[in-house]
Amino acid sequence: MIAHDFDYYRPDTMKEAYGIYQKLSAMDKSPAYYAGGSEVITMSRAGSILPGAVVDLKAIPECTYMGFADEGLMIGACVTLSAIAESKLFPMLGTAVSRIADHTNQCRITLGGNVCGTIIYRESVLPLLLTDCSVYLWGANGERRVPIKDVFHQRVMLKKGEFITRFAIDQKWLGVPYIHVKKTKNEKIDYPLLTLVALLEGGDIRMAFSGLCEFPFRSSRIEDTLNGPDCTISEKAERITHQLPGPCLDNLDGSAEYRAFVLKNTVYKVLQKFKEMPNGRI
Ligand SMILES: Cc1cc2nc3c(=O)[nH]c(=O)nc-3n(C[C@H](O)[C@H](O)[C@H](O)COP(=O)(O)OP(=O)(O)OC[C@H]3O[C@@H](n4cnc5c(N)ncnc54)[C@H](O)[C@@H]3O)c2cc1C
Repeated sequence: MIAHDFDYYRPDTMKEAYGIYQKLSAMDKSPAYYAGGSEVITMSRAGSILPGAVVDLKAIPECTYMGFADEGLMIGACVTLSAIAESKLFPMLGTAVSRIADHTNQCRITLGGNVCGTIIYRESVLPLLLTDCSVYLWGANGERRVPIKDVFHQRVMLKKGEFITRFAIDQKWLGVPYIHVKKTKNEKIDYPLLTLVALLEGGDIRMAFSGLCEFPFRSSRIEDTLNGPDCTISEKAERITHQLPGPCLDNLDGSAEYRAFVLKNTVYKVLQKFKEMPNGRI
């Protein structure tokens, strides 16, 4: 049970949603955007957030559309993880989101909610980072389109009241060869000890990680090492364990040392697999 009263709004347009949010903020209602609600409800129940109002984005057509446009594949921020996986339009993203939570929850968790959520893993962002997708945001000046690297660095960085409306992925990325590995402590459905998503484009590898540090990331330093000509696969796998952008997570799922060990072995196997692919030059 949620122990406090709150107002519920379900606007039909992006403009209306932003306007309602601003009005509620001015009234000190501490509003929260609401998509799948899995995190908003859990955190409200636990008392860790106390929104006086929620603004549900799911009646906004742009936020629920998935299909092709001039910019490529458009995925609305409120499209659910199960809809993405079942559509098979973007297999790399479909595979990544199929390993988040269980099927019942995948039917309500949304892409935007996972990317914007406070739970640190945000695994759905990995394919979006690897494919340099564009993110559409609605804010004070209407809708704007930004490269994901400008709005996601460790976590999403939005101005107050701004929200994600949709993601655009260039068609050229939809069918690239990729590898997805999710390692958990025990069960298949669990937070990641390590999730690694990698793709091969023009002979070069791109790789992004979740579960390793306190945030999901893609690193140009690591990719330089992976694509550099001057050492063996085994040396590359060892070297990148010293190139992480922050300390390895150390929690009940696994110690920092164990995570580094899993990283090294996983990267080694992934590089070997890529080497066997027709365009792999590692
Ligand atoms: C059983 C279970 C297992 C899970 N396992 C994993 C896992 O293994 N890996 C993983 O990555 N995650 C996992 N999660 C976390 C889950 O992915 C998040 O709870 C979920 O992503 C939240 O999505 P939602 O659509 O329900 O968002 P909501 O709860 O609606 O919103 C989450 C946050 O994002 C904000 N928000 C939502 N949409 C937007 C938008 N369009 N623009 C701006 N802000 C927005 C909300 O205001 C809120 O702060 C798990 C969750 C559950 C319930």
